[in-house]
Amino acid sequence: MSRPYYIAGNWKMHMTRAESAELAKVLVGELKDGKHKYLVAPSFTSLETVAAIVKGTNIRLGSQNCAAEEQGAHTGEVSVLQLKDLGVQTIILGHSERRHSYKEDDALINQKVKLALKHGFEVILCIGELLEEREAGKAEAVCETQTVKGLEGVSESELANLVIAYEPVWAIGTGKTATPEDADAIQAFVRKLIGKLYSADAAQKMVIQYGGSVKPDNAAQLMAKENIDGALVGGASLKPESFAPIAKFA
Ligand code: PEP
Repeated sequence: MSRPYYIAGNWKMHMTRAESAELAKVLVGELKDGKHKYLVAPSFTSLETVAAIVKGTNIRLGSQNCAAEEQGAHTGEVSVLQLKDLGVQTIILGHSERRHSYKEDDALINQKVKLALKHGFEVILCIGELLEEREAGKAEAVCETQTVKGLEGVSESELANLVIAYEPVWAIGTGKTATPEDADAIQAFVRKLIGKLYSADAAQKMVIQYGGSVKPDNAAQLMAKENIDGALVGGASLKPESFAPIAKFA
C-alpha cells in the first residue's frame, strides 16, 4: 500500500489577516490540480479568514496548537471547541518551538493529542532532537521517547487520524537540512517503533513528514526516500513561489 504525500505549511506567527488571505487565495489557485494532500496552518487570528478561502478546496485548515483543556479559566489559550467552530481540521502539536521556547513537555503534549483526537481532529505530532542530542548519539532515543510518550493512551484506530512530523530542531529555520539519508534513517526507526507499539499494518500506514529547511530545491530528493511521506514547511511556506513548487514536487 502506498502512502499519500502530505505537504503542510506552518505559517507560525506571521502575517495579518489580509496577508494571510492573499497567500491562501494564491495557493488555492496554484494547488488546485496538485496531486498530494495539502494543509496550511495560519496564526489563530487568521484562521477564520483563511477558513473561508480554503473551504471546499484540496487545502486543509490547520491550527498550530490548542489548549490541553476543553474550556475554562485558561487565559490566553485556545480550545479545541473554538477551533472546531472555525472549521479547523488538523492540529499541529509538539512543535519544537512549543517544546523548547514554551516548555511544553511530553505529558502536556500527550494530553493535547488525546483531546484533539477525541474531538475528531487530525493531529500532526512533531518530534525531533536538538543538535547536542544528535551529536551525543541520542537522536533515536529522543525521538523514541517523544513518540512513545506523545502517543500514550492513543488507540490504533485513533492512529488513523495522526501524522508524525520528524523535525530535527537543528534544521528548523536554520537553512541546514538533514540529508535525505539521515532523515530517512530516523523516520524508518520511528516507523519500526510504531510497528512495535501497534502493528505492522499501523506502521505501514503511518504518514511521516520531514520538516527542517525544506525548500523547492531539496523537496524531491527528500520525498524520494521510502520513509519520507511529505513535509512540514515553515519559512518556505510563506511565499507561493517557494511553497507551491514544494507542494507540487514531482
Ligand atoms: C517548522 O517550523 O516546522 C519548520 C520546519 O520550519 P523551516 O521550514 O523554516 O525550517
